[in-house]
Amino acid sequence: MESMKIFIQNPRKYPKVELHRHLEGALRFSTLIELAQQMGQDIPKDINAQKQKFLVLDPMKDLLTVLNKFMATQSVLATEEVLTRITFEAIEDAHSEGIRLLELRYAPTYILQGHSDLSYEKIHRAILKGVEKAAHFPIAVGLICIFQRTQPLVELDKVLDFVVDTKDTWIGVDLADDEAGFPTNNFSQLFSRAHRHGFPITIHAGEVDQPTSPKNVSDAIHLLGAQRIGHGLQIIRDAKVMQEVIDSKITLELCPTSNWLTNGVPSLSAHPFRKLMEAKVLTTINSDDPGVFGIDLTNEYHLLAQTYQFTDAEFDYCNDIAARASFIPLAQKQKYWPRKIS
Ligand SMILES: [Zn+2]
Repeated sequence: MESMKIFIQNPRKYPKVELHRHLEGALRFSTLIELAQQMGQDIPKDINAQKQKFLVLDPMKDLLTVLNKFMATQSVLATEEVLTRITFEAIEDAHSEGIRLLELRYAPTYILQGHSDLSYEKIHRAILKGVEKAAHFPIAVGLICIFQRTQPLVELDKVLDFVVDTKDTWIGVDLADDEAGFPTNNFSQLFSRAHRHGFPITIHAGEVDQPTSPKNVSDAIHLLGAQRIGHGLQIIRDAKVMQEVIDSKITLELCPTSNWLTNGVPSLSAHPFRKLMEAKVLTTINSDDPGVFGIDLTNEYHLLAQTYQFTDAEFDYCNDIAARASFIPLAQKQKYWPRKIS
């Protein structure tokens, strides 16, 4: 057992926690191509050209190109069968990456877009079926509902109604998308309602390289009741907000490759991961959209080992923080996590 803990000897077996992975962004590449072909999309023959069409492999130059790639992926999520299949495969892939605790998040409004045969009920039922089919893997799985900042509040209220009706099948709620264009305080009523219903809350904030980013983190904590922050790396710019995050024991879900590809940091070596960890911010290692970025979680560990000289003890430290902060019920987490979760 001990030898399995040495990352470099067996990176994929090293026990990991994934708190931040989008189901829609975790599509297996071969499945994506197969589904796109079935739908009659124009797919290049050459695998490199296929990757250029669908994947984000270099830091984005303009948002539109990236959004088009996400929409190409979104378009294949058209049936319940597909949703069941991609959920099963996401769990199978996570298991093969050494993930023991997996939180998958998705945005019902995003999947529904352009798919008039689907509904929130059908989407969720199909995803739960995928989770059920993967129940034999030794991995704890929990689902988080994402509210998209870009959607009208009246629609988000309907999503929350649905989430409340299906409460037992969710472990938490999240807010995502354009944090600069859609201020956090717009969503305070929505999240206070979610909070009243007892949902744990994580919020995408402090992701983009902008002066207002640290304030978004502070607002997410104070106005929306966030216990965890998706990304949050930009708090490095603001000592006061950073201290707030430390004092209130907020966990950051850091995603190094994602932060680089979306220009959150100018280079991988400029990522503040180590600085935040050494300042006693609660830091965790995540992949965000592995299917879109052509990575897996093991890739992020290699990156941290090579670029920031992370040791096994530091991986364990971040993973134990993540195991503690995971919204999955304790008994279920402890069943699959090799160390005591305190
Ligand atoms: Zn995310």
